[in-house]
Amino acid sequence: MNETQADNTNRPFWQRIPLTLQIVIALILAVALGVALGAGNPSPENKAFIENLAIPAELVLKALRALATPLIFVAVLHTLMTTHIPGTAGRRLAVLLFTNTTVAILIGLLVSNVLRPGTWWRLATPGSSDIAKKNFDPWALLKDAVPEAVLKPLVDNNVIQLIIIALSFGIVLRAIKSEQVAQGKTGYQPIEDVIGTLFEAIIRILGWVIALVPLAVFGIVGKTVAEKGFEPFKSLGAFIVAVLVALVLQACYYLIRVKFGSWVNPLNFLVGGADAFLTAFSTDSSTATMPVTFQILQTKIGLRESSASLGALVGSNFNNDGTALYEAMSALFISQVLGQNLDLVQQLVVILTSIFASVGAAGIPEAGLVTMTLVFTSVGLPTQYIALLVTVDWFLDRCRTVINVMGDMTVSALVDGKKPQSTDNS
Ligand code: ASP
Repeated sequence: MNETQADNTNRPFWQRIPLTLQIVIALILAVALGVALGAGNPSPENKAFIENLAIPAELVLKALRALATPLIFVAVLHTLMTTHIPGTAGRRLAVLLFTNTTVAILIGLLVSNVLRPGTWWRLATPGSSDIAKKNFDPWALLKDAVPEAVLKPLVDNNVIQLIIIALSFGIVLRAIKSEQVAQGKTGYQPIEDVIGTLFEAIIRILGWVIALVPLAVFGIVGKTVAEKGFEPFKSLGAFIVAVLVALVLQACYYLIRVKFGSWVNPLNFLVGGADAFLTAFSTDSSTATMPVTFQILQTKIGLRESSASLGALVGSNFNNDGTALYEAMSALFISQVLGQNLDLVQQLVVILTSIFASVGAAGIPEAGLVTMTLVFTSVGLPTQYIALLVTVDWFLDRCRTVINVMGDMTVSALVDGKKPQSTDNS
């Protein structure tokens, strides 16, 4: 992902087209193909071909599912080992991150339950399939929290167990590292290097998978239009609107928090943050935006360097409220499309797994799509329907990345407190 300029010019021409443009071109071509194949009225001799159009999306999803657990595991270890959190700030930060993420998910669920975007088009009649109707028992969830073997969650794609293992190892490795640093030892270094290298490797492989997304979009949209016409896109349109409404509500929540929890004026916060928001929207990555976030928090908003670094550096790794909100809304959306409403307990499971999944989501394009597979698995939703969401993810990912960055900035402002920097020496 850190390609040099030289790399870029050596690439074939289609790889030099920005991913978003590739997806838009794929969408247009797919609609044309779908119409040519019958737009809802396909002829029987094309049936096999139309079926096979789904293969790229199936492969991409399978690869994302396979990468999800190692990505989360290594990302959590990496963040815990490498980020510097000064003394007492840790607990306060954890509480802030947890509250903001929970509010984000609750807003997402509320909007989904009220607007019910998935009911605009039904794939199946209510209750006709019982894929999600596993028996959910909160006690079983608790009993299930500890895995039977350390590596089992990696194999089973169990997000809660996985995070518990990752957090345990991460916290212990961090403690060992500080003890060794205090004693002048460097035994931790090789492990830290291995984790860093593995993280980079997974991100690069993820880059290959993401490069195939335009092909997946082409196939799945072509197939959908050919088989069902344009009806399903009504629902996706409603889903986009619902997600945007929820993200805007989350932004309002941040502004209220900033107004009452810090000295920063919400309007200055918005205006001063404009560069970071634009960078987030255009790069699709909160990690790539981090240097801009860090800078504007100090220069344009006027926060102390320590608060800016806490929110921007730690937050961009752990704090992904937009992603959490989106994952929860996606699970509800697909359950509605399938005609199966998730009951309260299932929605609680969605809240829990979305929190964990967003902690593990790296701040890179489409990371939310990777960890979403785990949220779906946790409530028994079939992951193949994520393919439907791939068609709109290129746009919604940009929007949720803006909220991820705004969330980091909010945490910084709250950590900065009620007194501006200028009062420090007076
Ligand atoms: N693109 C998002 C980010 O960088 C992560 C996601 O896919 O939700 O923050």
